[in-house]
Amino acid sequence: MSVQVLALRTPTLLPATHTNCYRVGDVVVDPASPYEEEQERLWSWLEKNPPRRILLTHHHGDHIGGVEDLRRRCGARVAAHRDARLPFVVDDFLEDGDRVETGAGVLICHHTPGHADGHFVFELEGSGDWIVGDLVASVGTIVLVPPEGKLGLYLESLERVAQQGESRGGRFFPAHGDPIADGPALARMYIQHRHMRTGQVRAALAEGIEDAWGIAERIYAGIPGVNLHYASAQVETHLSWLRDQGG
Ligand SMILES: [Zn+2]
Repeated sequence: MSVQVLALRTPTLLPATHTNCYRVGDVVVDPASPYEEEQERLWSWLEKNPPRRILLTHHHGDHIGGVEDLRRRCGARVAAHRDARLPFVVDDFLEDGDRVETGAGVLICHHTPGHADGHFVFELEGSGDWIVGDLVASVGTIVLVPPEGKLGLYLESLERVAQQGESRGGRFFPAHGDPIADGPALARMYIQHRHMRTGQVRAALAEGIEDAWGIAERIYAGIPGVNLHYASAQVETHLSWLRDQGG
């Protein structure tokens, strides 16, 4: 019972350049790459024992680029959450709590929206291993882009997975970067970090800076290589969370 990984080059957000494709038994999670040579590489990894199912953590382009190609090669069924907006036919819709038999253990589906609608984390039952998609990353950061990115839901998802990982074992396999030995600790750091940013956004508002771009310039100043487009998108998610809370 184990999680295997192949990192595929994808059009993802720098500094990440690859998305991890995971295999557990006869299930593959996120055959991510739209590039032909990467799809060939994925197929040579899988072809001796072709998968029967393809599970998707979410619908972002750097996670689904190789789905159609892999399905054509081996006829695997594609499964995702109903809220995922996918540009191809989904064979099976999965929900929170669903269990997927892999032949090498059961993957439990945890609906974890916030970064993307219909985002899933897959827990390999009894192992303490979690395939976490874009819940957290060990390379780069997780970006929330409004209107889809929702900070309140994201914080809830982080909290829920952190708690469960603390009680059942929490080695996280992210979509970007190496496995994370203490996943719950990283999830809690993310939560703290978002609260710290919310505090900074509140302080900027109190100083009369009201537009997301202006706030982003203020609070992300001095971070090398910061992309203000994404930074202001982050600020937007903090602003709408504060509005939802009435303050
Ligand atoms: Zn994503």
